[in-house]
Amino acid sequence: MLSPYAQHLALMLLAGLLGSCTSSPVARDADVIVVGTGIAGLSAALEASAAGAKVLLLDANSMGGGHAVKAGGFALVDTELQRSKGISDSPSLAFGDWALRGKDPDGFWAYRYAENSATEVYDWLVEQGVVFHMILPTNEDSVPRFHFTRGTAVNAVVPLLRRMLYDTNIDFRWNTRAIALLKSGGRINGVLTRNERTGKEQLFRSGAVILATGGLQNNLEQVRANWADGLAEPTRLLRGAGEFATGDGYRLAEWAGADIRNMDRQVIFYNGIPNPRDTRDQSGLLAQNPMAIWVNASGRRFVDESANIRVVTDAVSGTENPGYWMIFDADGARRFGLRGAPWISRDTIDAEVLNNPQLVSKADSVSELARRAGLPEHGLRTTIETWNRMVSVGEDYMFQRFKKGSPPDRSIRPIVNPPFYAARTYPMTRKNMGGPAINPNGQVLNSDRIAIPGLFAAGELTGVAGINGSYGGAGTFLGPSVFTGRIAGAAAAAEAGRAENYRQADDNNFAGSSPRPGAPGYWHFDVVHQTVTERGYGCTQCHSDTNPMEPAASRAVLLARLDSCVLCH
Ligand SMILES: Cc1cc2nc3c(=O)[nH]c(=O)nc-3n(C[C@H](O)[C@H](O)[C@H](O)COP(=O)(O)OP(=O)(O)OC[C@H]3O[C@@H](n4cnc5c(N)ncnc54)[C@H](O)[C@@H]3O)c2cc1C
Repeated sequence: MLSPYAQHLALMLLAGLLGSCTSSPVARDADVIVVGTGIAGLSAALEASAAGAKVLLLDANSMGGGHAVKAGGFALVDTELQRSKGISDSPSLAFGDWALRGKDPDGFWAYRYAENSATEVYDWLVEQGVVFHMILPTNEDSVPRFHFTRGTAVNAVVPLLRRMLYDTNIDFRWNTRAIALLKSGGRINGVLTRNERTGKEQLFRSGAVILATGGLQNNLEQVRANWADGLAEPTRLLRGAGEFATGDGYRLAEWAGADIRNMDRQVIFYNGIPNPRDTRDQSGLLAQNPMAIWVNASGRRFVDESANIRVVTDAVSGTENPGYWMIFDADGARRFGLRGAPWISRDTIDAEVLNNPQLVSKADSVSELARRAGLPEHGLRTTIETWNRMVSVGEDYMFQRFKKGSPPDRSIRPIVNPPFYAARTYPMTRKNMGGPAINPNGQVLNSDRIAIPGLFAAGELTGVAGINGSYGGAGTFLGPSVFTGRIAGAAAAAEAGRAENYRQADDNNFAGSSPRPGAPGYWHFDVVHQTVTERGYGCTQCHSDTNPMEPAASRAVLLARLDSCVLCH
């Protein structure tokens, strides 16, 4: 029996042979195939179509959108919204912030993005119907540049999906996983796919292929295999990325001969709490509490809890079995927040996390808390007493979280009111900052720095072109995914040209069959229906005459269905 990886290699070989056996030109299915319908793939498809290419967009999931539906904001520089709020930003200011934080970012791409994000990302997204609503400051940026739509970035993706569905130059296949690339005459010219519901394999041919499959952060084996030297590897690691972040694109690019680089650059968040509703006990939720202090296994504070990601990562990752305990009292419990699952609310946080002894220790005294959390009592007691003393004198003389004369901060409170809490956090996967090297046109490079004909890549798969260096910043994934997607889309369309004829599609998205909950290929269906059941929504909250319960039979139904995305995301 072949291992899954050996099976994968065999498939690639077969696909390569099939691709190279063709003696006469075979009709294309599309000029450009885009693998992955996240924000990078959508941007690439729209751009390639605008350049006149016939596009085929594939996704392993039953719906497009990728990680952006879970994401927050965009780092954008010198936009109209910033100017309207009197914020003076510039490419050199942004580049300086990213270079300072990032440790070895790709200077070419970082500056190019800083210089063009206002026109090529912000203005373009606004043209597609995206409405940016607010800008938040962060502890990494010298001026506020973290741009948000109303709600999450689902509101940036839905307008793109809508455009894509209106654009009949773009064909698409959901539930369709790319399992191998086709190569003929030294060019990548198609994809072998497997339908996730039916298991049917199918070849699609094109003039060029863009890989936009995102990262590998749901593949813990691969995350660990690429763990950075010098960082302590945790015994428990939580999944913090989407179901389809399996790393397929890296394997496909590697097979084509791509130079895969910087794979040990991964964004790991250290404030993960195990998701109590995950029956596999693997996924995590992001915990935040501005009123908590963080202690290590000795019960001691070790960092300014409000510091930026680089400082926190360095401090936490350097400890043995990285992770920490968030310590707070009854007042702080009200500020304990979680992100990462649609069922989260104040009530569920209280019932399923703060009152769940498997996840959070709780006690009426500090000594009992230390005993329950397995922390040394003397260390924890001294830390809390020191914290309370520093709060009363108005200065954190250990880590400078607050100083004498700083503006009042309501999060800085003594920890005195029982019950006391200790929430154990674990490292949680999130984003990739390495991947196939690309040239300024988004063409994938081999180890001799030569472009592989017909192969392009964009988005998180490329580590967003190395813009972040070793530390991911706030919003520096979404914008660069759009940016690299648009570049790859335009260049792939130019390289592919127009075919003389196209193969008549022998399969389509609207063949329809009754949903089979729990069966392979129904992950999105299952999660959506579980969520609406948990929230007590009625069927008519989403379904209507224009969005019937039956499988979608037309683009019009999918367009109507988009209106319900914001109910879960
Ligand atoms: C919870 C969370 C919050 C985040 N918040 C922010 C934020 O606030 N700001 C920010 O800038 N970034 C944020 N990020 C990161 C950002 O969302 C991603 O980096 C970005 O959306 C990546 O876009 P992408 O299109 O490159 O890849 P993805 O969004 O990962 O899309 C890839 C697509 O490819 C599909 N796919 C994968 N393999 C295959 C295959 N073999 N065949 C066919 N299809 C395949 C997947 O189903 C998916 O739809 C966040 C990430 C997470 C997980």
